[in-house]
Amino acid sequence: MILDGAAIAQGVKESLRQRAAKLAARAGRKPCLAVVLVGDNPASRTYVQSKIKAAAFVGIEGREVEFPATVGEEELLDAVAALDADSLVDGILVQLPLPAQINPDRVLDVISPAKDVDGFHPQNVASLQLGRHCTVPCTPKGIIRLIDSTGTPIDGKTAVVVGRSNIVGKPLAKLLLDRNATVTIAHSHTQDLASITRQADILVVATGHAGLIDGSMVKPGAIVIDVGITRISPTRLKGDVDFASASQVAAFITPVPGGVGPMTVAMLMENTLECFESRLGL
Ligand code: NAD
Repeated sequence: MILDGAAIAQGVKESLRQRAAKLAARAGRKPCLAVVLVGDNPASRTYVQSKIKAAAFVGIEGREVEFPATVGEEELLDAVAALDADSLVDGILVQLPLPAQINPDRVLDVISPAKDVDGFHPQNVASLQLGRHCTVPCTPKGIIRLIDSTGTPIDGKTAVVVGRSNIVGKPLAKLLLDRNATVTIAHSHTQDLASITRQADILVVATGHAGLIDGSMVKPGAIVIDVGITRISPTRLKGDVDFASASQVAAFITPVPGGVGPMTVAMLMENTLECFESRLGL
């Protein structure tokens, strides 16, 4: 069965829209999400546009702030700090990747944890690890929702996460652990990847290596979540999972596009509302 991330995300956004309207009525203004785009990377621009569009749908004011690729680090830090100090801004997102002259850690550290809608600030990362209240990063949060949409309990399952990035693999492994899965993280140095992925009741692949996982590497009846996005032509995206063969074996599988991507955007909207709610004590 195909896990239709676009349809599930649409349902999430519709209920967020109602919640946003109620919160806006209480606050006397709409929530505001600032989205910072540096340079002219076409993929980044597309992501920013889809976030601004989703914000408009939900009833969040999207404030797009753009800088040329040549912007200096200090100038960018000052601009992000100004957004952070602006009481009318509830959430700040800096679209990654940033140009080479800018250290992304310095930029992300300037965003206060209360406005960190991506959940990338060290305080939010630490809180997630400690099981404390925090903003959960959007992609892993959306993946858990996709798994939950299958109606299969995560508790007790064997989960394999391929990829160990700070934005997907590591936080997702912690969320699965919190739900009592037995979790393995595989990565580029893993020996005999297939023998590990074949054990997975829940297999999540986030490597950016197109077609890395084929049907022979999937356990029959598994839930397969494909996070990877590789642009193979201006109009075609490919995931990390070979959909044709894996979909013959899996019980549930996400397509690319239309799986994890729309859920990530929906979770960003949810995180923005959560920041708005807690900052204003609504
Ligand atoms: P990254 O590029 O930071 O890291 C890739 C990870 O994959 C590393 O941990 C590496 O060890 C592992 N890896 C690479 N090649 C491997 C191999 N052959 N076998 C096993 N492991 C391997 O990763 P990221 O930022 O998490 O992004 C991963 C992919 O997910 C990219 O394609 C990215 O575009 C996509 N992505 C999608 C969304 C979304 O919303 N759909 C969000 C974030 C990332």
